[in-house]
Amino acid sequence: MPGKSHGSERIHKMSRRTELELSLTSYGRSERGVSLDYLKPEVPCELLIVAGIHGEESDGVISLSRAFRSISPLVISPSIAAVFCANPDGVILGTRGNANGVDLNRNFPASNWSPDPSTCRWHADEDETIPIFTGKEPGSESETKAIISLIKALKPAQILTLHGPLACVDDPNQSPLGQWIAKRTKLSLVQDIGYPTPGSMGSWASEAGIPIITWEFPPDGVEALSRSQVPVIADIISGNFPGGNEL
Ligand SMILES: [Zn+2]
Repeated sequence: MPGKSHGSERIHKMSRRTELELSLTSYGRSERGVSLDYLKPEVPCELLIVAGIHGEESDGVISLSRAFRSISPLVISPSIAAVFCANPDGVILGTRGNANGVDLNRNFPASNWSPDPSTCRWHADEDETIPIFTGKEPGSESETKAIISLIKALKPAQILTLHGPLACVDDPNQSPLGQWIAKRTKLSLVQDIGYPTPGSMGSWASEAGIPIITWEFPPDGVEALSRSQVPVIADIISGNFPGGNEL
């Protein structure tokens, strides 16, 4: 039964972790024409997981894929939807923004969207910042339009976005899932990331009444994250957490 299996049949042997044994559905195209793909839920969507909206945070893309490849597809909760990479152009180019140099996580049509360039950092622990565009208008980019349409169609009860490397769980609602992720990963649970994020998916989703958790991985690299974060993602997608039997 999906989400209910425990023990050895739930966890894939290493020899079976090569391929992603899921069929993904396209929800649009990037600015450079790359297909934007997601795992479609089989029932109403309780949780939408989104990775890779920042192209230079490919650790989240790889970790989400590894979590799905760690477990049998038979135990994946039918109400889970997952976007493996919301910004494939950025991942290919190694940039935070998309192919137009726009930070997609500042391009959402939230009331706080700003045309002023946002800033990001080359090193998270240094103050020197790099300007980055927020788009010529709110929701201007193909990737933003596509994921907004997807969210409106799915109507997820909750969204979980994977980012890095700030090492915290940002959950304004302090939800049971956010609390559980923080406890499992020993990351601090915060209600605010500590700086303004106008035009972010979080700002837009909050205004749309959809609770959103931002999971900021620590700056450890894929090898360490595969031990510290991936098993927690695997438990979430298979419903193995408090309240997860509702997924
Ligand atoms: Zn990010």
